Amino acid sequence: MDVISTVVGYPYIGENRQWKRVVESFWKREISEEQFQEQLKELRLQNIQRQRALGIDYITVGDFTLYDRMLDLAVMFGLVPSRYQTMENETALTRYYAMARGAKNVVACEMTKWFNTNYHYIVPEYEGARLELSQNKILEYFLEAKNELDIMTKPTFIGPYTFIDLTKGYDHQSRASFILQLLPLYAEVIQQLVDAGAEWIQLEEPSLTKSLSEDEVKLVEELYKQLVESVPTANIMVQTYFEALTSYERLSKLPVAGIGLDFVHGKRENINAIRQHGFPNDKVLGIGCINGRDIWAANIAEVVADIQSVLQLSNVQSVWIGSSCSLQHVPVTTVNEQKLEPVLLNALAFADEKISELVHITHFIKKQQWMKEKVVSESMVAIGNLAAHPVRQNRNVQSLLKSVTDQDYMRALPYEQRRDIQKQALELPDFPTTTIGSFPQTVELKKTRAAWRKKQLTDELYAHFIEKEMARWVRIQEEIGLDILVHGEFERTDMVEFFGEKLTGFAITENAWVVSYGSRCVKPPIIYGDVEWTNPMTVKEVVFAQKLTDKHVKGMLTGPVTILNWSFVRNDVPKEVVAKQLALALRQEIQALEEAGIAIIQVDEPALREGLPLRQENWSNYLTWAVNAFKLATSSVKNETQIHTHMCYCEFNDFIDPIRALDADVISLETSRSHGELISSLKEYPYELGIGLGVYDIHSPRVPDVSEMMKILEESLQVISKEQFWINPDCGLKTRQESETIAALKNMVKAATLLREQV
Ligand code: GLN
Ligand code: ZN
Repeated sequence: MDVISTVVGYPYIGENRQWKRVVESFWKREISEEQFQEQLKELRLQNIQRQRALGIDYITVGDFTLYDRMLDLAVMFGLVPSRYQTMENETALTRYYAMARGAKNVVACEMTKWFNTNYHYIVPEYEGARLELSQNKILEYFLEAKNELDIMTKPTFIGPYTFIDLTKGYDHQSRASFILQLLPLYAEVIQQLVDAGAEWIQLEEPSLTKSLSEDEVKLVEELYKQLVESVPTANIMVQTYFEALTSYERLSKLPVAGIGLDFVHGKRENINAIRQHGFPNDKVLGIGCINGRDIWAANIAEVVADIQSVLQLSNVQSVWIGSSCSLQHVPVTTVNEQKLEPVLLNALAFADEKISELVHITHFIKKQQWMKEKVVSESMVAIGNLAAHPVRQNRNVQSLLKSVTDQDYMRALPYEQRRDIQKQALELPDFPTTTIGSFPQTVELKKTRAAWRKKQLTDELYAHFIEKEMARWVRIQEEIGLDILVHGEFERTDMVEFFGEKLTGFAITENAWVVSYGSRCVKPPIIYGDVEWTNPMTVKEVVFAQKLTDKHVKGMLTGPVTILNWSFVRNDVPKEVVAKQLALALRQEIQALEEAGIAIIQVDEPALREGLPLRQENWSNYLTWAVNAFKLATSSVKNETQIHTHMCYCEFNDFIDPIRALDADVISLETSRSHGELISSLKEYPYELGIGLGVYDIHSPRVPDVSEMMKILEESLQVISKEQFWINPDCGLKTRQESETIAALKNMVKAATLLREQV
């Protein structure tokens, strides 16, 4: 049997986020286009050499990008919307970045979540214009590795079905012409690669793991039939990931040379499908067995056993042993983590360490013996040690979990009764105005925090600085005339990391960055043990601000599901259990805030939607435990205490019932970018909960005037009642400038005042 090791893709950002620095300095015009290209090429070649040094058999190219790989393909196929074509005197590169980020007078292309990951891609737009292959970037990457490093690589790019599935702008009619034009371009790119000597082409088709209708399955079959007919000599590997291959019986028979399956996230379903239908033995089977989505060391012996059972079932002649998906979703290497405790560090595997695991596993499958026994036993010891770590057997947490009863998920009274009690207790005007929590973080604040972190500044001095900022902003908010104030979140850099630093069971890394979108990287905390609340985390600041004003200051917390979805999570217990632990910790924080006299508490859940499974049939299970976690966190409060929540980009439509189920007294939604849609879906909104519609877009520095906001308010009032209506910006203001924030909020308050006079 033929066995090789490979990965679907490797992180492009570099060990120290060099990629980000190069790209951003080009944006700032600190380097020329030539320097930019040179520096990125150097990084690209380094990435390949790193993988070679780790001993992987088949290295992938085309996993690199200048911003986003969907955007790369769109541009390569000439899918450049007309609004960018009128940009004069621009190079192809500046136009590319205008599509990604917008430019003077042109808005950026839409960006959205890549399947169920926290990565966001640029959505290609088809406007009906003729498609045309411009520069074949994938070919350049392939040739570069071949000529300069003498390495025969495997080019990868997003396959035609997924590309069509994710492109917007066509309707039922124009779709046929879009496909008709697109397919020859795919064939051309592939043919050029074959002519240049590429032995395999990997087409990534994650959309083949979604629920597919009969028509969609037929389309996939048709696409591949035609594609393969036009490039008969190409060896195509259709690589699926994030779930099991849908319609296995038919799609595993696509006329391509190989099919890659995710044996981590779709393990049971894929194995069952092979058991039932076999695997075509003229094809290469890609076995994605090392998790490309988590950071945990694999139990190598167990993975080998899994592979062997797949091999027994399938009778294949040739296999690729690889990652479950691209390793771009994990950080580069654990080598630079100096501060993690060894028990945790030894049980981690980032991209490089995962490649080493693959190399070991592949060696065993080839030779039926371990390359180094020691590696295998050490990995087992590391996993065992972490499992036995006291942080995973926290008795307080265990007994707290056991003590939870059904009642703990319920507020004392139903919303309708709470509403009247709160109205009396809180004495709010009609159309109360508030903000989402954070205010601009000045350069001085960032510098002060950095100095404090480096221990150049004492805790007292830092706390004093934060207090000064809070006091300043309490005054500003009072002057603006907002009804409910916030403390401003000046003590937080990140809404998840902040809580991770304070709760037991979390570790904060130094260098474990992954791309969220474009050049924006995030460093998710690691939840590796039982989550325990030990001390109040937010009370000091909120109470400080509350003492300075007669108005209510809203307590501000990140919700359990968002903390979970924006962290790397332990894999020894179900996520549901971790969510429950987080909920109990936040419940204690909420009690502490309430005891300290805080009457309104906001629990943000912007990432609630992000945890949704890919297949709709699995949604309700997730939503049940996610909603329960929120309720467990927030239900202990008195009837008088008002619970708020906030969500961004929630695609309200298919989310109405879960939102109601949260039973929060007030919800604020990001709406200004999709206002029209939201208003029409609100027509269907049957509930009386308080609702705050973002009346302006905080993502832009533009200050909207009063009439613009009035228009949104008046439209909104046609579908929701006066009693439930709140007025706020659509998200936190952390990234804005102070002057524009104040100006916009003043206009918002003016609009509220006008509205009160009118209605
Ligand atoms: N309270 C947070 C803030 O204002 C909410 C951020 C978010 O929704 N992403 O920054
Ligand atoms: Zn938001």
